[in-house]
Amino acid sequence: MIISGKDLAREVRENIARKVASYRIEYGREPNLCVILVGDDPNSHTYVRGKGKAAQEVGFSHTELLLPDTITEHELIDRIHELNNDDSVDGILVQLPLPKHIRKHRVIEAIDPNKDVDGFHSRNVDALWHKLPGVRACTPKGIIKLLDKAGVEIAGRHAVVIGRSNIVGFPVAKMLLDRNATVTIAHSHTADLGAITRQADILVVAIGVPKLIKGDMVKEGAAVIDVGISHDPETGKLSGDVDFAEVEPKASVITPVPGGVGPMTIACLMENTLDCYTRKMQWD
Ligand code: NAD
Repeated sequence: MIISGKDLAREVRENIARKVASYRIEYGREPNLCVILVGDDPNSHTYVRGKGKAAQEVGFSHTELLLPDTITEHELIDRIHELNNDDSVDGILVQLPLPKHIRKHRVIEAIDPNKDVDGFHSRNVDALWHKLPGVRACTPKGIIKLLDKAGVEIAGRHAVVIGRSNIVGFPVAKMLLDRNATVTIAHSHTADLGAITRQADILVVAIGVPKLIKGDMVKEGAAVIDVGISHDPETGKLSGDVDFAEVEPKASVITPVPGGVGPMTIACLMENTLDCYTRKMQWD
């Protein structure tokens, strides 16, 4: 079964749009997301446009703050502080990567954790590790929703996560652990990757190496989630980390690239923005 992230993302967005319509009446305004883009990277522009389009579709107001790459770290942090103090802004997101002269961790830490819709602030990461309420990172959250939608049993199964980034691998491993899977994390120093992946009932691949996971590396009946987005050097086309043609016949469920995890990341970003807004409105 191919799990369509596009279809599930549409369901999530429709659900958000319905809530926004009623919250607008209850609280007098819709959620407001501010996306900050520093510099002119064309890929980043595409991602920011996608986020803006999704925000519009669910009925949020949405601002794009486009800043030149000559901005200093200090100036950028000042802009973030202004947005933190602006009551009309519910969610703040800084599109990554940032220019080299700006330290990513300094910028992320400057965002109010209650407006940190990406879930990257150390207070939100800490909340995940301590099982406390907080904003959960979008891609891992989307992966769990995809597994649930496909009816994949998580508790008691062996989940193998390849990749240990703070954005995907590490948090998704923790979320699977919290759902009572037995979790193995593999990475670029793992000696025999195939020996580990062949044990996986659930295989989550987040590395960014096109088609690294071949058919003979996957157990019959495994659920396979392909997070990778890169360009196949042979065809130039968008590719996942999984060789789809080889793995799909063996997998019980699999996500395609594109159209799998990607749309769910954006849908979860909208969900996080709505959550930040409702928490704020209910406190006020
Ligand atoms: P990253 O570069 O921060 O981390 C990559 C990880 O892969 C590292 O932990 C590294 O140890 C591991 N790795 C690299 N080569 C390996 C190999 N040959 N064998 C085993 N492990 C290896 O990347 P990231 O930010 O986690 O992103 C991973 C991929 O997922 C990228 O292609 C990225 O574009 C994609 N991504 C997709 C979404 C989405 O919404 N679909 C979101 C975030 C990231």
